[in-house]
Amino acid sequence: MSASVDKLIDGYRRFRAGAFQDSKPLIQELVTQGQRPQICVVACSDSRVEPATLFQTDPGDLFMIRNVANLVPPLEEDGKFHGTSAALEFAVLGLGVKHVIVLGHAHCGGVKAMMNADTDSGEFTFVSQWVSMLAAAHRRVLATMSSASEEQRTRACEQNSVLVSLENLTTFPWVRDRVQSGELTLHGWYVDIATAELMAYNGQNGSFEPVG
Ligand SMILES: [Zn+2]
Repeated sequence: MSASVDKLIDGYRRFRAGAFQDSKPLIQELVTQGQRPQICVVACSDSRVEPATLFQTDPGDLFMIRNVANLVPPLEEDGKFHGTSAALEFAVLGLGVKHVIVLGHAHCGGVKAMMNADTDSGEFTFVSQWVSMLAAAHRRVLATMSSASEEQRTRACEQNSVLVSLENLTTFPWVRDRVQSGELTLHGWYVDIATAELMAYNGQNGSFEPVG
C-alpha cells in the first residue's frame, strides 16, 4: 500500500547501495557533462502514473513536468508564476529536447474534478481554476456523446486533456517554430493504469490507437 516515510528512507539506502553503484558511470557522465534528455514528458501528478516506471527509463532520459491532469496551459504573458510554462521553456530552449510527450491516463482525478465542477463543494481553488481549461472540451464531449456511457465520456475527457495540451503547446512560438522545422515532435499518449494499455494519438484519423 502507500509508502510511509520510513519506506522512502529504506528505499534510499537500497538505492545508494545498489542501483546507484551500478549506474555510477552514467551518473558520473550526467554530472560532468550535464543532462541531455531527448524527451520531455508532461504527465499527471497522480501517484499511480510513474513515467520512469512505465517506460523503464534511466536517470537523464526524461525531463519531467507533472501537474494535475497533465495539462499545458496556453501562453500567457501576464508576469504571473507559470511553473509548467517555465519547465517547458527550459526543456525546449535550454535542453533542446526533440520530443514532447503529453501522457494522459485513465481514472484521472483532475479530469473527474473538472467533469464534476457543477456539483463540487468549492473545496479547491487552484485545482478548479487549473482544470477549467478543459471545460470547452468537456462541453464538446457532452454535446457529441450524449448517448455514451459515463465511462466512455470520462475516457473521452481524459483523452481530450491530452489534445488540449497539444493544442496549447503550439501557442508557444518556440514550440510552434521547432515543430514546423521538424526539430521537435509532439506526441499525445494515454495509458490505462488498470491494464497497462498504452495508446498514441494519430493526428491523421483523430483517434487514439494502441502502441506496442
Ligand atoms: Zn490524473
